[in-house]
Amino acid sequence: MGSRRNQLTDEQRAERRRQECETAQRAVEALKSTEGWQRWLVARASFHRYSLSNQLLIAMQRPHATRVAGFRAWLSLGYFVRKGETSIRIWVPMKPTKKALAEWAANGSDPAAKPRTWFKLGPVFDRSQVEALPAPATPAPLDLPIEPVVGETLAWALEPLIALGDEIGSAVTFEAIPGSADGFYEIRSRRIAVEETLTPNGRVGTLVHELAHALVRADRRDDDPSLSYAEEELVVESVAYTVCGSAGLDTAGNSIPYLAAWSESASLATIAATAALIDRLARRIEDAVDAALRGETLDADEPHVDAAAHALPVVA
Ligand SMILES: [Zn+2]
Repeated sequence: MGSRRNQLTDEQRAERRRQECETAQRAVEALKSTEGWQRWLVARASFHRYSLSNQLLIAMQRPHATRVAGFRAWLSLGYFVRKGETSIRIWVPMKPTKKALAEWAANGSDPAAKPRTWFKLGPVFDRSQVEALPAPATPAPLDLPIEPVVGETLAWALEPLIALGDEIGSAVTFEAIPGSADGFYEIRSRRIAVEETLTPNGRVGTLVHELAHALVRADRRDDDPSLSYAEEELVVESVAYTVCGSAGLDTAGNSIPYLAAWSESASLATIAATAALIDRLARRIEDAVDAALRGETLDADEPHVDAAAHALPVVA
């Protein structure tokens, strides 16, 4: 593979780069429709450790994908890619070769000329495209258990979520809330209240929603889009949907947030910035929950592409 790459002319390489950017741009444009937006949120629940660019590429190319890996990574998990399957292409990091690094060192180690990691669209396959290898191979289990909304299977997640609230100055209380609301976030005091009669799993779902309201303010950055009341609710519902999905909480009963008319007419830059905000806030909550879970998830084969390494290729 390495030697083939070197055979490309500069012109061919530039052309490939142009095609890659076009593909990535199309994946972002899909966010402009409610269907594309929902496809992304569903995909994000399974691919929350991937960069936003890669979530969008997966959502566009294989909307129902739940787990992807490269050809060899699947083999090491005990599965093989079925013949004739078309790959999904996502950004994968290409580290500089030992040879390139040695040449650089031999030529004086100029920091400005140090070979860098770059990204190209590389092939991965979804689990629906693979089959278990026969014995004696022992295929790794792939299913994340789906937890019912009613129950206490996710009770362990309450503690890290409450700790995140404390960290951002939002104390969490469980109390009797008048009316039909399951929870609220009080802007002035930054307090989060969750209905005390909810089951632990129900509390998790509500707490994630209210934490997202708190984070919209606590984690605000200058380039975040400014949000109306309705827009904030869309952001918060989207965060809650994808975070609950990634934690394995049954989201089938929840409606997937849909873009209101304003969003379908909004500029692509605004929609992409809103998606980036949702991804960032969701990641903050997922990181808190994942830290509590660490060691229990199967993620050895996931390409840990740094989200920051790939800003969305949006032309404003
Ligand atoms: Zn809300």
